[in-house]
Amino acid sequence: MIVGEQKPINEIKEMVASYKKLLILGCGTCVKTCFAGGEDEAAVLASALRLALRKEGRDPEIEVFTVERQCEDEFIQEAAPHVSKHEAVLSLACGAGVQAIARRFPDSPVLPGVNTTFIGVLEKQGYFTEECLGCGDCQLGIFGGVCPITRCSKKLLNGPCGGSIQGKCEVDQSIECGWQHIIDRLNRLGQIDNLRVYVPPKNWRSSHAGGPRKLIREDHMI
Ligand code: SF4
Ligand code: SF4
Repeated sequence: MIVGEQKPINEIKEMVASYKKLLILGCGTCVKTCFAGGEDEAAVLASALRLALRKEGRDPEIEVFTVERQCEDEFIQEAAPHVSKHEAVLSLACGAGVQAIARRFPDSPVLPGVNTTFIGVLEKQGYFTEECLGCGDCQLGIFGGVCPITRCSKKLLNGPCGGSIQGKCEVDQSIECGWQHIIDRLNRLGQIDNLRVYVPPKNWRSSHAGGPRKLIREDHMI
């Protein structure tokens, strides 16, 4: 899922300063799971914002509405009547959701209420880890399901750098060595011989290095 974090209230307050009618638009999927922008977070933010602005003598009209996903037009439509009643939208979606809303409502200012951080997993309650950089050419099968591009600080493809100490990365001791995980996992699977095959330098053309990407599924096009 996309992991994000709600922006600090002071930053949000500055962003919305010039609007008297504001819609806080939550998103009910990834940002809900990471407690950044779901229905509950949108409601709490609205209360906090009202209080903070009232202390400064401002009293804007703030409405809250949440759609299932801000990155899909089918759900975005539901927000249309709410967007039209307000001067601006504070979107609590990831960056893709914010842009989808801006595209769909070209005459409304759309502001980001969340800092999108990474593609990751919920490791345990309240603890999210980055797992994928979206490189566009997944090689997880070679590496026992552990991504060296994301989990190794040096993005090494042919084994560890040798600087790991007790399973921690030499770049930062608070990070687990991704290669330690790859080796442990391949040993467990009986696939350690995968590492005997040289992995050539990664071709980054399939990544964002080649500019914004598209995925076209003609079988799903109407
Ligand atoms: S190899 Fe690429 S697509 Fe696969 S997990 Fe790593 S970054 Fe993501
Ligand atoms: S210590 Fe491990 S994770 Fe860190 S750079 Fe070296 S191989 Fe990569």
